[in-house]
Amino acid sequence: MSESGQRSARKCISCGINISGTSAASFKCPECGSQIYRCSKCRKQSNLYECNDCGFTGP
Ligand SMILES: [Zn+2]
Ligand SMILES: [Zn+2]
Repeated sequence: MSESGQRSARKCISCGINISGTSAASFKCPECGSQIYRCSKCRKQSNLYECNDCGFTGP
């Protein structure tokens, strides 16, 4: 029920793995400004990401 626990856990937006402590990229959604994290693997593969808040997708 509570979503408060998810704030500290950083997850790759593309593949969902825990990226805390890794060299993951973090940036803000160009649409809504929500913080987005992506692991180095997905960044290398240029996987698409989708913002959880507004549904924006981008490379
Ligand atoms: Zn990933
Ligand atoms: Zn967004």
